[in-house]
Amino acid sequence: MKTPQDAFSDYLTDQNLKMTPQRRLILETMLKQGDHVSSEELYARVKKKDPSIGQATVYRTLKLLSDSGLVEPLDFADGVTRYEPSYGKEHHDHLICERCGKNIEIMDETIERRQEAIAREHGFTLCSHKMYLYGVCPDCRKKGEA
Ligand SMILES: [Zn+2]
Ligand SMILES: [Zn+2]
Repeated sequence: MKTPQDAFSDYLTDQNLKMTPQRRLILETMLKQGDHVSSEELYARVKKKDPSIGQATVYRTLKLLSDSGLVEPLDFADGVTRYEPSYGKEHHDHLICERCGKNIEIMDETIERRQEAIAREHGFTLCSHKMYLYGVCPDCRKKGEA
């Protein structure tokens, strides 16, 4: 398997674009962060390492990373798009607290298999899916009871 850097470089070549030090820094900052970041948060992190990078560059590069499949946009239903590195990562879905925004990564083989089967029943080959489960986390439930 190619490194994410090589995969992104190949994607950029296909788009007649070049891997620049700025694009590489944005990719590497994205890969290093362990959680789900918004474009604003990513911009803040990138700016710490290279103050000369503009917000537009970060946003455009994030779009390229997302289009290339290296990074996946997530919708936690709070109006903020977040991103996580997805290249070479095991698939997972998300459980999200509607009150505090906490999110947990989940994976259930039975659900995964059922999704494949349902797609097949409709004559589809499943390429990808996103499942979001929205609820109230234990901490927020306790606060609600108190
Ligand atoms: Zn909560
Ligand atoms: Zn995730």
